[in-house]
Amino acid sequence: MIADFTKESVNFIKQGAPVASPEQYEERMSICVDCEHYTSAHKCGLCGCYMPVKAKWKTTKCAATPPKWEALVGEDEIEKETERNIERTRKHIDRLKNVKNRGKK
Ligand code: SF4
Repeated sequence: MIADFTKESVNFIKQGAPVASPEQYEERMSICVDCEHYTSAHKCGLCGCYMPVKAKWKTTKCAATPPKWEALVGEDEIEKETERNIERTRKHIDRLKNVKNRGKK
């Protein structure tokens, strides 16, 4: 079960760490809390993952067969998310350069 969470974590990072919207997260969690596999420790009894974390990751899907909710990423979405992350990083670097340059004047 720890292996499942580790695998999910690695996949999440590899795919650019895409996070579900608040609405997507709420929808997933509402399904989990009504599920027979949901435990009082907020874990899934099938995969052992802590659901308040797992449900935030777009790359994850429900552990049941068939799944009660699906991953929220496809190839296109992963590419867009990666581009958004690169753009955010570029803007952050530009802001840091501006702050650094202001300090030199
Ligand atoms: S991930 Fe799926 S099986 Fe696990 S608690 Fe949520 S709805 Fe139930």
